[in-house]
Amino acid sequence: MGAISAYDFVVIGAGSAGCAVAAGLADANAGSVAVTEAGPTDVRPFVKVPFALIWLMRSRRDWQFKPAPQNTLNGRQINVPRGKTAQEVHFQDGTCLFAKRRIVLSAGAIGAPAILLQSGIGPLDDLHIDFNLLSDPADMDLMVAGVRRLRKLLKEADIPGVEGHPGAESDSDAALRGYIKSHCGTAYQRAGTLRMGEGDAPVTPRPALRGFENLWVAGASVMPAITSANTNAPSMMVGHRAGKMIAKDAA
Ligand SMILES: Cc1cc2nc3c(=O)[nH]c(=O)nc-3n(C[C@H](O)[C@H](O)[C@H](O)COP(=O)(O)OP(=O)(O)OC[C@H]3O[C@@H](n4cnc5c(N)ncnc54)[C@H](O)[C@@H]3O)c2cc1C
Repeated sequence: MGAISAYDFVVIGAGSAGCAVAAGLADANAGSVAVTEAGPTDVRPFVKVPFALIWLMRSRRDWQFKPAPQNTLNGRQINVPRGKTAQEVHFQDGTCLFAKRRIVLSAGAIGAPAILLQSGIGPLDDLHIDFNLLSDPADMDLMVAGVRRLRKLLKEADIPGVEGHPGAESDSDAALRGYIKSHCGTAYQRAGTLRMGEGDAPVTPRPALRGFENLWVAGASVMPAITSANTNAPSMMVGHRAGKMIAKDAA
């Protein structure tokens, strides 16, 4: 791979969306594309083996972000693993690339806004990751209803004795709320930190960073709302569609 400055496009981040952006640009014959990645090579058995990802958490292939303690969850800190690894790309921290003519920011739902902040584009001094989980009472109501629905399903299927925690004695709303507060976590599907949309959304529907030329964003970060299922396939779809749109708009 030659010097980054020689390429027509630089995609920052070789994750789910970044690789698909590069494919979309290539499909559209948009020019030469470099994909940069901050993480180390993926040539390691744990990267390839299904479910071995638990051994990658808190390793050098995990960004190991430190989230704020959640007041809404008894002050607990929620684990925020974020992968960083790639195959056959140019390994480079993308933060230093903003002098390049055409940049696509695909650095993930936390990485993309972090790069903008570090580049002085965002107004904040530091990246403060506060998920503010369950701060909307509707979310807690949904969780309580979810536990009750699961119990009902188990009862109807006549599968006794499956529930280990919180246990059948915890049946009141207050007891279930207390349990959820002290035990709930997330499934790591971060999204919507640089939302795409009209008006004051930071990313336009094409998906350019609003107010900037030749700077686009693609990945889970641009999702305007949380998807109803997991985010990996939608991130790849966003990346591929974005690649094609960018190719057209940059021509
Ligand atoms: C532990 C875990 C389990 C998951 N399980 C599932 C699942 O089962 N199903 C599912 O659908 N989704 C799952 N997800 C979510 C899924 O991984 C994401 O939705 C998806 O990867 C988002 O794609 P993205 O391209 O936006 O970000 P990412 O895939 O995270 O890609 C961002 C890339 O940018 C790189 N980067 C960041 N900063 C820089 C920089 N400064 N310079 C260069 N590169 C940089 C990162 O290292 C990373 O490789 C899981 C996520 C985690 C963390």
